[in-house]
Amino acid sequence: MFSQAILRGPSGRMRGEAPSPSAAGRLPGVWIFAAGLAAAIFSLDAFTRDDLAVASLYVLVLLIGTSAGGPHRRTSILVWSAVCAALAVLGYSIFRSYGAPPLALAHLGIGLTVLLVATILLLRNHSAKSSVERSDRRYRIVFDTLAIAIWEHDFTPIVAALQRLRDGGVTDIRRYVAEHPEFVIEMRRSVRITDVNATALTMMGVTNKDDFFSHLSGFLPETDDSFAECIVAIDERRALFQTEAIVMPLNGEARQIIVAFGLGPDASLDRVPGSILDVSHRRALETQILRTREELAESQRTSAVAAMSASIAHELNQPMSAIQSYADAANRWLSRNPPNLMEAKEALAGLTMGVQHARTVMQRVRALVGQARIELCDIELDGLIATTVALMRREAAEHGARLIILPETDDTLTVRGDRILLKQVLINLITNAIQAMVNTPPERRIVTLTLDRKGDQAYIAVTDSGPGWDVSESGNVFGSFYTTKRNGMGLGLSIAKMAVDRHEGAITRRNSEEGGAVVEVMLPLSVDLDVGIADRRSDGAQESVAV
Ligand code: ADP
Repeated sequence: MFSQAILRGPSGRMRGEAPSPSAAGRLPGVWIFAAGLAAAIFSLDAFTRDDLAVASLYVLVLLIGTSAGGPHRRTSILVWSAVCAALAVLGYSIFRSYGAPPLALAHLGIGLTVLLVATILLLRNHSAKSSVERSDRRYRIVFDTLAIAIWEHDFTPIVAALQRLRDGGVTDIRRYVAEHPEFVIEMRRSVRITDVNATALTMMGVTNKDDFFSHLSGFLPETDDSFAECIVAIDERRALFQTEAIVMPLNGEARQIIVAFGLGPDASLDRVPGSILDVSHRRALETQILRTREELAESQRTSAVAAMSASIAHELNQPMSAIQSYADAANRWLSRNPPNLMEAKEALAGLTMGVQHARTVMQRVRALVGQARIELCDIELDGLIATTVALMRREAAEHGARLIILPETDDTLTVRGDRILLKQVLINLITNAIQAMVNTPPERRIVTLTLDRKGDQAYIAVTDSGPGWDVSESGNVFGSFYTTKRNGMGLGLSIAKMAVDRHEGAITRRNSEEGGAVVEVMLPLSVDLDVGIADRRSDGAQESVAV
Protein backbone atom coordinates (compact mmCIF):
# COMPACT_ATOMS: atom_id res chain seq x y z
CA MET A 1 0.00 0.00 0.00
CA PHE A 2 2.74 2.37 0.88
CA SER A 3 5.67 3.23 -1.35
CA GLN A 4 8.63 4.61 0.57
CA ALA A 5 9.55 6.93 -2.28
CA ILE A 6 6.42 8.88 -1.59
CA LEU A 7 7.46 10.17 1.80
CA ARG A 8 10.99 10.92 0.65
CA GLY A 9 12.20 14.19 -0.72
CA PRO A 10 13.86 14.57 -4.15
CA SER A 11 17.24 13.68 -2.67
CA GLY A 12 15.86 10.32 -1.57
CA ARG A 13 16.40 11.32 2.03
CA MET A 14 13.59 11.61 4.56
CA ARG A 15 13.15 15.25 5.51
CA GLY A 16 14.85 16.12 8.76
CA GLU A 17 17.41 13.29 8.52
CA ALA A 18 21.16 13.96 9.04
CA PRO A 19 23.42 14.05 5.93
CA SER A 20 24.52 10.59 4.83
CA PRO A 21 28.10 9.38 5.47
CA SER A 22 28.83 9.40 1.72
CA ALA A 23 28.23 13.17 1.62
CA ALA A 24 30.76 13.65 4.42
CA GLY A 25 33.22 11.43 2.59
CA ARG A 26 33.18 13.69 -0.47
CA LEU A 27 35.01 16.48 1.35
CA PRO A 28 38.70 15.42 1.08
CA GLY A 29 38.34 14.52 -2.62
CA VAL A 30 37.12 18.01 -3.49
CA TRP A 31 39.81 19.60 -1.42
CA ILE A 32 42.57 17.52 -3.07
CA PHE A 33 41.28 18.53 -6.47
CA ALA A 34 41.16 22.22 -5.47
CA ALA A 35 44.65 22.02 -3.99
CA GLY A 36 45.97 20.46 -7.23
CA LEU A 37 44.34 23.21 -9.24
CA ALA A 38 45.85 25.84 -6.94
CA ALA A 39 49.31 24.31 -7.43
CA ALA A 40 48.87 24.33 -11.24
CA ILE A 41 47.77 27.97 -11.27
CA PHE A 42 50.65 28.92 -8.94
CA SER A 43 53.31 27.33 -11.14
CA LEU A 44 51.76 28.94 -14.24
CA ASP A 45 51.70 32.28 -12.50
CA ALA A 46 55.12 32.20 -10.90
CA PHE A 47 57.24 30.38 -13.46
CA THR A 48 55.95 31.29 -16.92
CA ARG A 49 57.53 34.28 -18.56
CA ASP A 50 54.32 35.38 -20.27
CA ASP A 51 52.47 38.16 -18.56
CA LEU A 52 48.99 36.54 -18.20
CA ALA A 53 46.26 37.48 -15.65
CA VAL A 54 46.58 33.97 -14.18
CA ALA A 55 45.89 35.09 -10.58
CA SER A 56 42.22 35.59 -11.47
CA LEU A 57 41.97 31.80 -11.92
CA TYR A 58 42.35 31.33 -8.14
CA VAL A 59 38.65 32.15 -7.97
CA LEU A 60 38.05 28.63 -9.44
CA VAL A 61 40.04 27.13 -6.58
CA LEU A 62 37.98 29.12 -4.13
CA LEU A 63 34.68 27.97 -5.70
CA ILE A 64 35.69 24.29 -5.91
CA GLY A 65 37.36 24.22 -2.50
CA THR A 66 34.25 25.60 -0.80
CA SER A 67 31.68 23.70 -2.86
CA ALA A 68 31.80 20.68 -0.58
CA GLY A 69 29.80 22.49 2.10
CA GLY A 70 30.21 20.90 5.52
CA PRO A 71 29.46 22.27 8.95
CA HIS A 72 32.19 24.99 8.91
CA ARG A 73 31.58 26.44 5.52
CA ARG A 74 32.24 30.03 6.56
CA THR A 75 35.70 29.17 7.92
CA SER A 76 36.38 27.12 4.83
CA ILE A 77 35.52 30.11 2.57
CA LEU A 78 37.85 32.39 4.56
CA VAL A 79 40.70 29.84 4.63
CA TRP A 80 40.51 29.06 0.90
CA SER A 81 40.26 32.75 0.09
CA ALA A 82 43.32 33.58 2.25
CA VAL A 83 45.34 30.69 0.77
CA CYS A 84 44.50 31.77 -2.81
CA ALA A 85 45.40 35.42 -2.06
CA ALA A 86 48.68 34.35 -0.45
CA LEU A 87 49.57 32.15 -3.45
CA ALA A 88 48.74 35.03 -5.83
CA VAL A 89 51.04 37.41 -3.91
CA LEU A 90 53.81 34.78 -3.63
CA GLY A 91 53.54 34.03 -7.36
CA TYR A 92 53.86 37.71 -8.16
CA SER A 93 56.98 38.05 -5.91
CA ILE A 94 58.70 35.14 -7.68
CA PHE A 95 57.65 36.48 -11.08
CA ARG A 96 59.09 39.88 -10.17
CA SER A 97 62.46 38.37 -9.29
CA TYR A 98 62.67 37.42 -13.01
CA GLY A 99 61.96 41.05 -13.85
CA ALA A 100 58.22 41.07 -14.30
CA PRO A 101 56.71 43.35 -16.92
CA PRO A 102 54.90 46.54 -15.64
CA LEU A 103 51.37 45.10 -16.11
CA ALA A 104 52.04 42.13 -13.78
CA LEU A 105 51.22 44.20 -10.69
CA ALA A 106 47.92 45.30 -12.28
CA HIS A 107 47.08 41.63 -13.03
CA LEU A 108 47.78 40.75 -9.42
CA GLY A 109 45.42 43.57 -8.34
CA ILE A 110 42.69 42.26 -10.66
CA GLY A 111 43.16 38.71 -9.38
CA LEU A 112 42.96 39.79 -5.73
CA THR A 113 39.85 41.94 -6.45
CA VAL A 114 38.13 39.01 -8.15
CA LEU A 115 38.99 36.83 -5.13
CA LEU A 116 37.67 39.46 -2.73
CA VAL A 117 34.38 39.85 -4.63
CA ALA A 118 33.92 36.07 -4.90
CA THR A 119 34.65 35.69 -1.16
CA ILE A 120 32.06 38.34 -0.25
CA LEU A 121 29.45 36.71 -2.51
CA LEU A 122 30.18 33.26 -1.11
CA LEU A 123 29.90 34.54 2.47
CA ARG A 124 26.61 36.26 1.69
CA ASN A 125 25.24 33.22 -0.01
CA HIS A 126 26.33 31.15 2.95
CA SER A 127 24.56 33.38 5.48
CA ALA A 128 21.34 33.41 3.38
CA LYS A 129 21.45 29.62 3.18
CA SER A 130 22.10 29.33 6.90
CA SER A 131 19.06 31.41 7.71
CA VAL A 132 16.92 29.26 5.37
CA GLU A 133 18.29 26.16 7.09
CA ARG A 134 17.58 27.64 10.49
CA SER A 135 13.96 28.44 9.56
CA ASP A 136 13.63 24.97 8.02
CA ARG A 137 14.87 23.44 11.28
CA ARG A 138 12.42 25.57 13.25
CA TYR A 139 9.63 24.44 10.91
CA ARG A 140 10.65 20.83 11.50
CA ILE A 141 10.53 21.24 15.26
CA VAL A 142 7.09 22.85 15.08
CA PHE A 143 5.92 20.28 12.54
CA ASP A 144 7.08 17.32 14.60
CA THR A 145 5.99 18.50 18.02
CA LEU A 146 2.68 20.22 17.28
CA ALA A 147 -0.36 18.75 19.07
CA ILE A 148 -2.36 19.27 15.87
CA ALA A 149 -1.98 16.64 13.18
CA ILE A 150 -0.30 17.89 10.00
CA TRP A 151 -0.14 16.29 6.60
CA GLU A 152 1.93 17.78 3.86
CA HIS A 153 0.29 17.40 0.49
CA ASP A 154 1.63 17.63 -2.99
CA PHE A 155 -1.12 19.31 -4.99
CA THR A 156 0.93 19.85 -8.15
CA PRO A 157 -0.87 17.07 -10.10
CA ILE A 158 -4.12 18.97 -9.51
CA VAL A 159 -2.58 22.25 -10.65
CA ALA A 160 -1.38 20.51 -13.83
CA ALA A 161 -4.79 18.90 -14.43
CA LEU A 162 -6.56 22.22 -13.92
CA GLN A 163 -4.18 23.86 -16.38
CA ARG A 164 -4.98 21.14 -18.92
CA LEU A 165 -8.70 21.80 -18.43
CA ARG A 166 -8.22 25.53 -18.98
CA ASP A 167 -6.10 24.85 -22.06
CA GLY A 168 -8.95 22.63 -23.27
CA GLY A 169 -11.38 25.55 -22.99
CA VAL A 170 -12.97 24.88 -19.58
CA THR A 171 -13.60 28.24 -17.91
CA ASP A 172 -15.98 27.38 -15.07
CA ILE A 173 -13.99 24.95 -12.90
CA ARG A 174 -16.62 24.83 -10.15
CA ARG A 175 -19.23 23.70 -12.61
CA TYR A 176 -16.86 21.22 -14.26
CA VAL A 177 -16.05 19.69 -10.87
CA ALA A 178 -19.75 19.45 -10.00
CA GLU A 179 -20.57 17.76 -13.29
CA HIS A 180 -17.59 15.38 -13.32
CA PRO A 181 -17.40 13.36 -10.10
CA GLU A 182 -14.96 10.99 -11.78
CA PHE A 183 -12.55 13.94 -12.15
CA VAL A 184 -12.76 14.56 -8.39
CA ILE A 185 -11.99 10.89 -7.66
CA GLU A 186 -9.09 10.93 -10.09
CA MET A 187 -7.69 14.12 -8.54
CA ARG A 188 -8.03 12.72 -5.04
CA ARG A 189 -6.02 9.70 -6.09
CA SER A 190 -3.34 11.90 -7.60
CA VAL A 191 -2.62 13.89 -4.41
CA ARG A 192 0.43 12.56 -2.61
CA ILE A 193 1.14 12.84 1.09
CA THR A 194 4.73 14.04 1.32
CA ASP A 195 5.13 14.15 5.07
CA VAL A 196 3.21 13.72 8.32
CA ASN A 197 3.93 14.58 11.92
CA ALA A 198 3.73 12.39 15.00
CA THR A 199 0.24 13.58 15.98
CA ALA A 200 -1.07 12.61 12.55
CA LEU A 201 0.45 9.15 12.92
CA THR A 202 -1.27 8.71 16.28
CA MET A 203 -4.59 9.96 14.92
CA MET A 204 -4.48 7.51 12.05
CA GLY A 205 -3.43 4.61 14.27
CA VAL A 206 -0.07 4.21 12.54
CA THR A 207 3.19 3.71 14.42
CA ASN A 208 5.75 4.90 11.87
CA LYS A 209 5.89 7.00 8.75
CA ASP A 210 6.64 4.02 6.54
CA ASP A 211 3.21 2.60 7.31
CA PHE A 212 1.43 5.84 6.58
CA PHE A 213 -0.83 6.22 3.61
CA SER A 214 0.89 7.33 0.45
CA HIS A 215 -2.04 9.09 -1.16
CA LEU A 216 -4.83 11.24 0.12
CA SER A 217 -7.35 8.77 -1.28
CA GLY A 218 -5.94 6.16 1.12
CA PHE A 219 -7.76 7.62 4.09
CA LEU A 220 -10.59 9.65 2.60
CA PRO A 221 -13.71 7.57 2.03
CA GLU A 222 -14.94 7.43 -1.57
CA THR A 223 -18.11 9.21 -0.53
CA ASP A 224 -16.26 12.27 0.75
CA ASP A 225 -17.37 15.26 -1.28
CA SER A 226 -15.36 17.93 0.58
CA PHE A 227 -12.52 17.35 -1.86
CA ALA A 228 -14.51 18.84 -4.77
CA GLU A 229 -14.46 22.21 -2.99
CA CYS A 230 -10.74 21.75 -2.32
CA ILE A 231 -10.10 21.51 -6.07
CA VAL A 232 -11.99 24.76 -6.61
CA ALA A 233 -10.01 26.37 -3.76
CA ILE A 234 -6.74 25.28 -5.40
CA ASP A 235 -7.90 26.74 -8.70
CA GLU A 236 -8.80 30.02 -7.00
CA ARG A 237 -5.57 29.94 -4.96
CA ARG A 238 -7.64 30.70 -1.90
CA ALA A 239 -5.57 32.08 0.98
CA LEU A 240 -7.34 29.77 3.43
CA PHE A 241 -9.36 26.70 2.66
CA GLN A 242 -11.11 25.00 5.51
CA THR A 243 -13.49 22.09 5.40
CA GLU A 244 -14.91 19.34 7.49
CA ALA A 245 -14.21 15.81 6.32
CA ILE A 246 -14.16 12.22 7.46
CA VAL A 247 -10.96 10.17 7.53
CA MET A 248 -10.55 6.45 7.92
CA PRO A 249 -7.73 5.43 10.30
CA LEU A 250 -5.84 2.23 9.58
CA ASN A 251 -7.88 0.29 12.12
CA GLY A 252 -10.79 1.77 13.89
CA GLU A 253 -13.73 4.02 13.40
CA ALA A 254 -14.05 6.90 10.95
CA ARG A 255 -12.99 10.19 12.48
CA GLN A 256 -14.51 13.58 11.84
CA ILE A 257 -11.90 16.24 11.19
CA ILE A 258 -11.57 19.89 10.27
CA VAL A 259 -8.74 20.46 7.82
CA ALA A 260 -7.24 23.83 6.86
CA PHE A 261 -4.79 24.63 4.05
CA GLY A 262 -3.15 27.84 2.93
CA LEU A 263 -3.42 27.83 -0.87
CA GLY A 264 -2.69 31.50 -1.55
CA PRO A 265 -0.55 32.68 -4.48
CA ASP A 266 2.60 32.58 -2.30
CA ALA A 267 2.13 28.96 -1.23
CA SER A 268 4.22 26.36 -3.02
CA LEU A 269 1.71 23.69 -3.92
CA ASP A 270 4.19 20.82 -3.89
CA ARG A 271 4.38 20.97 -0.11
CA VAL A 272 1.14 22.23 1.42
CA PRO A 273 0.81 21.57 5.14
CA GLY A 274 -2.76 20.84 6.15
CA SER A 275 -3.60 21.28 9.84
CA ILE A 276 -6.06 18.67 10.94
CA LEU A 277 -8.19 18.93 14.02
CA ASP A 278 -9.98 15.82 15.22
CA VAL A 279 -13.49 16.93 16.14
CA SER A 280 -15.05 13.46 16.43
CA HIS A 281 -15.36 13.70 20.18
CA ARG A 282 -16.91 17.17 19.98
CA ARG A 283 -19.35 16.11 17.26
CA ALA A 284 -20.33 13.02 19.24
CA LEU A 285 -20.95 15.27 22.22
CA GLU A 286 -23.04 17.62 20.09
CA THR A 287 -25.11 14.71 18.79
CA GLN A 288 -25.58 13.51 22.34
CA ILE A 289 -26.66 16.98 23.48
CA LEU A 290 -29.06 17.22 20.55
CA ARG A 291 -30.57 13.85 21.40
CA THR A 292 -30.91 14.79 25.06
CA ARG A 293 -32.54 18.06 24.03
CA GLU A 294 -35.00 16.21 21.83
CA GLU A 295 -35.80 13.81 24.65
CA LEU A 296 -36.26 16.74 26.99
CA ALA A 297 -38.50 18.53 24.49
CA GLU A 298 -40.48 15.33 24.11
CA SER A 299 -40.97 14.96 27.85
CA GLN A 300 -41.77 18.67 28.09
CA ARG A 301 -44.38 18.23 25.39
CA THR A 302 -45.88 15.33 27.33
CA SER A 303 -46.04 17.28 30.56
CA ALA A 304 -47.28 20.29 28.59
CA VAL A 305 -50.26 18.23 27.44
CA ALA A 306 -51.04 17.40 31.07
CA ALA A 307 -50.53 21.01 32.11
CA MET A 308 -52.64 22.20 29.19
CA SER A 309 -55.59 20.00 30.12
CA ALA A 310 -55.39 21.16 33.71
CA SER A 311 -54.97 24.80 32.66
CA ILE A 312 -57.93 24.71 30.31
CA ALA A 313 -60.06 23.22 33.08
CA HIS A 314 -58.86 25.95 35.43
CA GLU A 315 -59.35 28.83 33.04
CA LEU A 316 -62.77 27.62 31.95
CA ASN A 317 -64.00 27.78 35.50
CA GLN A 318 -64.87 31.45 35.38
CA PRO A 319 -66.66 31.55 31.98
CA MET A 320 -68.45 28.29 32.85
CA SER A 321 -69.90 29.76 36.02
CA ALA A 322 -71.03 32.81 34.01
CA ILE A 323 -72.66 30.51 31.45
CA GLN A 324 -74.34 28.64 34.28
CA SER A 325 -75.82 31.79 35.74
CA TYR A 326 -77.09 32.94 32.30
CA ALA A 327 -78.62 29.50 31.73
CA ASP A 328 -80.27 29.65 35.19
CA ALA A 329 -81.61 33.12 34.42
CA ALA A 330 -83.02 31.98 31.06
CA ASN A 331 -84.65 29.03 32.81
CA ARG A 332 -86.19 31.27 35.41
CA TRP A 333 -87.62 33.69 32.78
CA LEU A 334 -89.07 30.80 30.79
CA SER A 335 -90.59 29.14 33.90
CA ARG A 336 -92.65 32.23 34.66
CA ASN A 337 -96.30 32.25 33.86
CA PRO A 338 -96.54 33.72 31.31
CA PRO A 339 -92.87 33.23 30.30
CA ASN A 340 -90.85 36.43 29.78
CA LEU A 341 -89.45 35.71 26.35
CA MET A 342 -87.61 39.04 25.99
CA GLU A 343 -85.58 38.49 29.18
CA ALA A 344 -85.04 34.84 28.34
CA LYS A 345 -83.74 35.85 24.92
CA GLU A 346 -81.34 38.33 26.50
CA ALA A 347 -80.08 35.70 28.95
CA LEU A 348 -79.56 33.27 26.07
CA ALA A 349 -77.59 35.95 24.17
CA GLY A 350 -75.38 36.33 27.26
CA LEU A 351 -75.02 32.57 27.36
CA THR A 352 -73.91 32.49 23.71
CA MET A 353 -71.33 35.19 24.40
CA GLY A 354 -70.13 33.22 27.41
CA VAL A 355 -69.65 30.14 25.27
CA GLN A 356 -67.78 32.23 22.73
CA HIS A 357 -65.53 33.61 25.47
CA ALA A 358 -64.90 30.13 26.84
CA ARG A 359 -63.88 28.99 23.38
CA THR A 360 -61.40 31.87 23.01
CA VAL A 361 -59.97 31.25 26.47
CA MET A 362 -59.45 27.62 25.52
CA GLN A 363 -57.62 28.58 22.34
CA ARG A 364 -55.38 31.03 24.13
CA VAL A 365 -54.48 28.63 26.91
CA ARG A 366 -53.66 26.04 24.28
CA ALA A 367 -51.47 28.55 22.52
CA LEU A 368 -49.78 29.57 25.76
CA VAL A 369 -49.08 26.12 27.15
CA GLY A 370 -48.38 24.55 23.77
CA GLN A 371 -45.90 27.36 22.94
CA ALA A 372 -47.80 28.16 19.74
CA ARG A 373 -47.88 31.63 18.26
CA ILE A 374 -49.95 34.10 20.20
CA GLU A 375 -51.91 36.89 18.53
CA LEU A 376 -50.30 40.26 19.03
CA CYS A 377 -51.96 43.65 18.88
CA ASP A 378 -51.56 47.00 20.61
CA ILE A 379 -53.50 46.96 23.86
CA GLU A 380 -54.35 49.96 25.98
CA LEU A 381 -54.10 48.78 29.54
CA ASP A 382 -56.69 51.09 31.07
CA GLY A 383 -59.29 49.69 28.64
CA LEU A 384 -58.19 46.15 29.34
CA ILE A 385 -58.38 46.63 33.11
CA ALA A 386 -61.79 48.28 32.84
CA THR A 387 -63.29 45.46 30.80
CA THR A 388 -61.75 42.79 33.04
CA VAL A 389 -63.06 44.48 36.16
CA ALA A 390 -66.52 44.69 34.55
CA LEU A 391 -66.25 41.01 33.80
CA MET A 392 -65.35 40.15 37.40
CA ARG A 393 -67.79 42.41 39.22
CA ARG A 394 -70.50 39.74 39.47
CA GLU A 395 -68.08 37.23 41.02
CA ALA A 396 -66.66 39.88 43.37
CA ALA A 397 -70.16 40.81 44.45
CA GLU A 398 -70.97 37.17 45.16
CA HIS A 399 -68.01 37.17 47.61
CA GLY A 400 -68.97 40.54 49.07
CA ALA A 401 -65.89 42.20 47.60
CA ARG A 402 -65.43 45.45 45.67
CA LEU A 403 -63.07 46.08 42.77
CA ILE A 404 -61.42 49.49 42.50
CA ILE A 405 -59.32 50.81 39.62
CA LEU A 406 -56.65 53.32 40.60
CA PRO A 407 -54.98 54.93 37.61
CA GLU A 408 -51.79 56.68 38.79
CA THR A 409 -51.03 58.29 35.45
CA ASP A 410 -52.84 60.25 32.78
CA ASP A 411 -50.73 58.62 30.07
CA THR A 412 -52.30 56.02 27.85
CA LEU A 413 -50.17 52.95 28.41
CA THR A 414 -50.09 50.69 25.40
CA VAL A 415 -48.41 47.31 25.29
CA ARG A 416 -48.04 44.89 22.44
CA GLY A 417 -49.54 41.59 23.36
CA ASP A 418 -52.37 39.11 23.34
CA ARG A 419 -55.54 40.64 24.75
CA ILE A 420 -57.12 37.39 25.98
CA LEU A 421 -53.92 36.24 27.69
CA LEU A 422 -53.42 39.52 29.50
CA LYS A 423 -57.08 39.49 30.49
CA GLN A 424 -56.54 35.98 31.89
CA VAL A 425 -53.62 37.28 33.95
CA LEU A 426 -55.84 39.89 35.53
CA ILE A 427 -58.76 37.45 36.00
CA ASN A 428 -56.48 34.99 37.81
CA LEU A 429 -54.99 37.67 40.06
CA ILE A 430 -58.40 39.17 40.88
CA THR A 431 -59.89 35.71 41.53
CA ASN A 432 -57.04 34.90 43.95
CA ALA A 433 -57.45 38.27 45.65
CA ILE A 434 -61.21 37.74 46.09
CA GLN A 435 -60.67 34.23 47.43
CA ALA A 436 -57.94 35.40 49.81
CA MET A 437 -60.34 37.85 51.49
CA VAL A 438 -62.96 35.33 52.55
CA ASN A 439 -62.09 35.88 56.23
CA THR A 440 -61.68 39.65 55.91
CA PRO A 441 -64.53 41.76 57.33
CA PRO A 442 -66.92 42.48 54.43
CA GLU A 443 -66.40 46.26 54.54
CA ARG A 444 -62.67 45.81 54.00
CA ARG A 445 -62.93 43.31 51.14
CA ILE A 446 -61.45 45.53 48.47
CA VAL A 447 -59.30 44.60 45.49
CA THR A 448 -57.38 47.56 44.07
CA LEU A 449 -55.99 47.57 40.56
CA THR A 450 -53.27 50.18 40.16
CA LEU A 451 -52.00 51.24 36.76
CA ASP A 452 -48.87 53.36 36.40
CA ARG A 453 -45.93 53.99 34.17
CA LYS A 454 -42.39 53.16 35.32
CA GLY A 455 -39.86 54.28 32.71
CA ASP A 456 -40.58 52.36 29.54
CA GLN A 457 -42.67 49.79 31.41
CA ALA A 458 -46.30 49.64 32.36
CA TYR A 459 -46.91 48.79 36.01
CA ILE A 460 -50.02 46.95 37.16
CA ALA A 461 -50.56 46.01 40.80
CA VAL A 462 -53.40 43.90 42.20
CA THR A 463 -53.68 44.52 45.93
CA ASP A 464 -56.08 42.86 48.35
CA SER A 465 -56.76 43.09 52.07
CA GLY A 466 -56.49 39.42 52.82
CA PRO A 467 -53.89 37.78 55.10
CA GLY A 468 -51.11 38.34 52.58
CA TRP A 469 -48.57 35.79 51.39
CA ASP A 470 -47.68 33.11 53.82
CA VAL A 471 -43.96 33.83 54.24
CA SER A 472 -43.36 30.53 56.01
CA GLU A 473 -44.34 28.68 52.81
CA SER A 474 -41.23 27.92 50.82
CA GLY A 475 -43.08 26.57 47.74
CA ASN A 476 -42.81 28.25 44.38
CA VAL A 477 -46.21 29.95 44.10
CA PHE A 478 -45.55 30.74 40.41
CA GLY A 479 -44.80 27.10 39.64
CA SER A 480 -47.47 24.70 38.41
CA PHE A 481 -49.71 22.86 40.87
CA TYR A 482 -48.65 24.82 43.95
CA THR A 483 -51.75 25.43 46.05
CA THR A 484 -52.74 25.86 49.66
CA LYS A 485 -56.45 25.75 48.89
CA ARG A 486 -58.58 22.68 49.50
CA ASN A 487 -60.03 22.72 46.00
CA GLY A 488 -57.21 24.65 44.37
CA MET A 489 -55.40 23.48 41.24
CA GLY A 490 -52.30 25.59 41.71
CA LEU A 491 -52.39 26.87 38.15
CA GLY A 492 -53.63 30.48 38.33
CA LEU A 493 -50.29 32.11 39.15
CA SER A 494 -48.31 29.75 36.94
CA ILE A 495 -50.51 30.59 33.94
CA ALA A 496 -50.22 34.29 34.80
CA LYS A 497 -46.43 34.00 34.92
CA MET A 498 -46.31 32.10 31.63
CA ALA A 499 -48.45 34.75 29.96
CA VAL A 500 -46.40 37.64 31.38
CA ASP A 501 -43.17 35.90 30.34
CA ARG A 502 -44.51 35.55 26.81
CA HIS A 503 -44.93 39.34 26.82
CA GLU A 504 -41.34 39.75 28.00
CA GLY A 505 -42.60 41.17 31.25
CA ALA A 506 -42.09 40.31 34.90
CA ILE A 507 -44.41 39.26 37.68
CA THR A 508 -43.55 39.53 41.37
CA ARG A 509 -45.38 39.43 44.67
CA ARG A 510 -45.04 41.10 48.06
CA ASN A 511 -47.10 41.96 51.08
CA SER A 512 -48.48 45.47 51.43
CA GLU A 513 -47.82 47.63 54.49
CA GLU A 514 -51.39 46.91 55.61
CA GLY A 515 -50.67 43.19 55.40
CA GLY A 516 -52.59 42.21 52.26
CA ALA A 517 -51.05 40.56 49.21
CA VAL A 518 -49.77 42.54 46.24
CA VAL A 519 -48.96 41.06 42.86
CA GLU A 520 -47.01 43.40 40.57
CA VAL A 521 -46.77 43.00 36.82
CA MET A 522 -44.35 44.93 34.60
CA LEU A 523 -44.92 44.94 30.84
CA PRO A 524 -42.77 46.68 28.24
CA LEU A 525 -44.57 49.61 26.64
CA SER A 526 -44.84 49.23 22.90
CA VAL A 527 -45.53 52.62 21.29
CA ASP A 528 -45.15 56.35 21.82
CA LEU A 529 -47.70 57.81 24.16
CA ASP A 530 -49.02 60.03 21.35
CA VAL A 531 -49.62 57.07 19.10
CA GLY A 532 -51.28 55.29 22.00
CA ILE A 533 -53.65 58.20 22.49
CA ALA A 534 -54.49 58.31 18.78
CA ASP A 535 -55.41 54.62 18.84
CA ARG A 536 -57.35 54.85 22.04
CA ARG A 537 -60.83 55.08 20.61
CA SER A 538 -60.51 52.17 18.21
CA ASP A 539 -58.97 49.95 20.93
CA GLY A 540 -61.72 50.76 23.38
CA ALA A 541 -64.29 49.85 20.76
CA GLN A 542 -62.75 46.42 20.35
CA GLU A 543 -63.14 45.61 24.03
CA SER A 544 -66.38 43.88 24.87
CA VAL A 545 -67.58 42.19 27.99
CA ALA A 546 -68.03 38.56 27.20
CA VAL A 547 -70.46 37.66 29.92
P1 ADP B 1 -54.82 28.14 43.30
O1 ADP B 1 -55.58 29.43 43.38
O2 ADP B 1 -55.52 27.08 42.52
O3 ADP B 1 -54.33 27.64 44.62
P2 ADP B 1 -52.73 29.77 42.23
O4 ADP B 1 -51.56 29.42 41.40
O5 ADP B 1 -53.59 30.84 41.71
O6 ADP B 1 -53.50 28.43 42.44
O7 ADP B 1 -52.24 30.17 43.65
C1 ADP B 1 -51.27 29.41 44.30
C2 ADP B 1 -51.22 29.70 45.78
O8 ADP B 1 -50.72 31.02 46.02
C3 ADP B 1 -52.56 29.70 46.43
O9 ADP B 1 -52.99 28.39 46.79
C4 ADP B 1 -52.31 30.56 47.67
O10 ADP B 1 -51.68 29.81 48.68
C5 ADP B 1 -51.30 31.58 47.18
N1 ADP B 1 -51.98 32.83 46.78
C6 ADP B 1 -52.34 33.21 45.53
N2 ADP B 1 -52.89 34.45 45.55
C7 ADP B 1 -52.87 34.87 46.84
C8 ADP B 1 -53.30 36.07 47.52
N3 ADP B 1 -53.88 37.08 46.88
N4 ADP B 1 -53.11 36.14 48.85
C9 ADP B 1 -52.53 35.12 49.53
N5 ADP B 1 -52.09 33.97 48.96
C10 ADP B 1 -52.29 33.84 47.63
